[in-house]
Amino acid sequence: MTFRDLNLSTPLINALDDLGFETPTPIQEQAFSVVMSGKDVVGIAQTGTGKTYGYMLPILRMLKYSVQQNPRVLIIVPTRELVVQVVDEIEKLTTYINIRICGVYGGTNINTQKQAVSEGLDIVVATPGRLYDLAVSRALQLKSIQKIVIDEVDVMLDLGFRHQLMNIFDILPRQRQNIMFSATMTDHVDQIISEIFTTPQRISVAKSGTPLENIKQFGYKVPNFYTKVNLLAYLLQDKDTYHKTLIFVGYKKIADRLFDALEKTYPDEICIIHSNKTQNYRLRSIEQFRNGNNRILIATDVMARGLDIDNVSQVINLDTPEYPENYMHRIGRTGRAEKEGVSIVLTTEKEQNYLDCIEDLMEMEIEKLPLPNSVEISQLLTPEEQPKIKEIYNPHKRPNDDEAGASFHEKKEKNKKVNLGGKYKREIKKKYKKPKTKGDKTYNLKHKKKKK
Ligand code: AMP
Repeated sequence: MTFRDLNLSTPLINALDDLGFETPTPIQEQAFSVVMSGKDVVGIAQTGTGKTYGYMLPILRMLKYSVQQNPRVLIIVPTRELVVQVVDEIEKLTTYINIRICGVYGGTNINTQKQAVSEGLDIVVATPGRLYDLAVSRALQLKSIQKIVIDEVDVMLDLGFRHQLMNIFDILPRQRQNIMFSATMTDHVDQIISEIFTTPQRISVAKSGTPLENIKQFGYKVPNFYTKVNLLAYLLQDKDTYHKTLIFVGYKKIADRLFDALEKTYPDEICIIHSNKTQNYRLRSIEQFRNGNNRILIATDVMARGLDIDNVSQVINLDTPEYPENYMHRIGRTGRAEKEGVSIVLTTEKEQNYLDCIEDLMEMEIEKLPLPNSVEISQLLTPEEQPKIKEIYNPHKRPNDDEAGASFHEKKEKNKKVNLGGKYKREIKKKYKKPKTKGDKTYNLKHKKKKK
């Protein structure tokens, strides 16, 4: 099948020709008629399968020219980088169509974006938070939205955007087509579908958890972080093989630590993105990696999921992800659009369980390679790897000593006071050696009478 067999318009075909795309990918083939039918659609597809054009081609096919101010198509994605990327993809497809597109995301000046949307647009690509802010401040009217695409919905829910998503659904017109794409199916995704979608059509190109077949997977058993660094430094010497290498790290702190360690060996060849870096820094890093100025990019999972960077030669998993789905997403960065890719996973003994889960999910074993001889086994341990120091024997220590915690301090004298009740009563009691109240007078009189 070629794109000419789909019911596409000439401007779209011409744009695809310019891009050099002739045959639709499986998800594009499947999505086309389903999205065209106007029904709600749920697609399970990993990034790299061509899903962006899967939903954009039929949407653009149906979108008629209009002069109206308010957008008719809304695309929600989890990260700012994805906004930039999706806008870029749509712009390539609309070279010969008169369509106004605008990307909006948080972390940048809202007024500039208010100005941009006020100029009138057809398609808005947005992150949930900024979209909601713009809608609530009435800078962006969502009353004309006919189609909404929620891309990478599993990432969005992971990032805690459920509440914002529901708020956005509340202000959208009831009559609309809902389209959703997710790489994995989870209970949370299913819940959103049942709350929002009406009898959706499901399309799927790969069972969630199935690795893309054109990725070669290898693994190394490595004792600790700094030996992992040594192994990476060794592998990355081969500049021809490792010409565009994406290194995944689970945590920002470890990503920074790795960057510091590798930068010494490979200055000017390495860049990093994670959510503590500024927007400009992140965009610059991606650009430098994309255009080949830097051949190594260190990224955390959330930042890199959904990123479309062409021709990644290897994905290296510095750590073995705890959630097997994350591994699937990571390796999906290589072997994109039918190009061969390589994935390498480094596993310590502590992470062995995670590797077992990944292999179970894929129903296959990852080929293990021996550590090259010249890779030095480091004795240096990170603070997290260092064993907790335990006091072995101390005869003076009582087992159940109630020790004060680290933040314990003696109270100041004025704070040691306790409430003893009214001062007047206490003084009277001291004077008469017993409590006395206002009613005592009559009480005492009665008792005196009786005594008589
Ligand atoms: P996506 O899964 O949407 O992130 O797309 C992955 C990559 O595949 C993007 O760089 C697209 O430009 C590219 N692509 C999309 N459709 C096709 C196609 N039919 N043939 C070749 N490459 C494609």
